[in-house]
Amino acid sequence: MPARIMIRYGEIALKGKNRRFFENALLQNLKRAVKGLPVIINRTQGRFIASAPEDLQATALDHLSKVFGVVSLSLVTPATLDMEAIKTAAVALATQIAGGLNTFKVITRRPNKNFPLSSPEISRDVGAYLLEQNPGLKVDLHKPAFTIFIEIGAQEAFLYHKNVNGPGGLPVGVSGQALLLLSGGIDSPVAGWMAMKRGLSIGALHFHSYPFTSIRSQEKAIDLCRTINRFGGPMPLHMISLASIQKAIRTNCPEELGIILLRRMMIRLSDKLCRRSGIKALVTGESLGQVASQTLESMEVISAVTRMLILRPLLAMDKREIIDLAQAIETYPVSIRPYEDCCTLFVPRHPVTRPTLSRVNDAETALDIDRLLDESMDSLETRMIEG
Ligand code: ATP
Ligand code: MG
Repeated sequence: MPARIMIRYGEIALKGKNRRFFENALLQNLKRAVKGLPVIINRTQGRFIASAPEDLQATALDHLSKVFGVVSLSLVTPATLDMEAIKTAAVALATQIAGGLNTFKVITRRPNKNFPLSSPEISRDVGAYLLEQNPGLKVDLHKPAFTIFIEIGAQEAFLYHKNVNGPGGLPVGVSGQALLLLSGGIDSPVAGWMAMKRGLSIGALHFHSYPFTSIRSQEKAIDLCRTINRFGGPMPLHMISLASIQKAIRTNCPEELGIILLRRMMIRLSDKLCRRSGIKALVTGESLGQVASQTLESMEVISAVTRMLILRPLLAMDKREIIDLAQAIETYPVSIRPYEDCCTLFVPRHPVTRPTLSRVNDAETALDIDRLLDESMDSLETRMIEG
């Protein structure tokens, strides 16, 4: 049976005169999600309709259901705008799904107000026809075993019986750009996914300490980008070495401030990179109180080196909730692969949890900050990670 995929979006339809902008971005992202597949996507009143060859419908549905901005999707059967055709399609659909189920109802939505019958009239007529054609069926308006939905569009009618949830959110790109600080841990990829969910397009920055750490941490960052860009398309991955900065901090500064000082250097480098590329916000995987460097005091002292907005989508989430999300978006198996993060090499035995700015500034007088930053920036490598 020929079928199409109906793609529904909610929030973006509410955004007044930005609506076109949002719809165009969503359409671009939907097309990108099925790039390489023979899928055509058209706009109809308040929805998109994708047409795919029968053997690719399930794959197309899976890809499209990951696109932010999509609220729900259905495999739909098209019919011409004619009651006879709609009734015939309804019988075929009921036969396909009924298999032992004997109660049903019909719900109609009619965005095309030129169609001569009202929604209740269509539901009633189609329902009556189904009863006539299938004597075993009964109508139950309250607890039907299955429901046939009919939508009367501008050019065609669509019939379906199931909804698949999309991820919701806003189309990637409509909220601008941000730089994700991507470690090899569990949290930061989830933070990136959440930022993308609210329409941010993301580039990633991974700090490594090669050759102190193995090349595996960089491979992990690449694999994490590949996993999250299923939701947002190709993304640049920047890699910067912290090796000489770590050496300088370890040699010249108090051990218990090590992580805080390193984080401040990371933020300074991120700030430089963003200035080069006109990006206005950073995204991190910090969660309040999770570790010593994520107390209010630590975060304040770390953020003090930049005027950029630092977004922390996981701030109020528990580790358990973060892990559940990481599993759902499939970053978890990559994140738990063993590797050495630049920071795991660097964890002090007794990290301070309440650093003060004056103490940190004092400690930093022992560092030639500008030279260290320049040297690290020289190690910058950028590659495009395709989906
Ligand atoms: P994650 O699981 O994301 O590594 P975490 O709980 O281990 O987080 P930290 O190691 O304290 O937390 O790091 C806090 C945040 O700093 C990370 O979520 C990430 O955004 C950023 N970060 C830490 N290490 C790196 C790194 N090597 N490269 C880029 N960003 C990093
Ligand atoms: Mg980490």
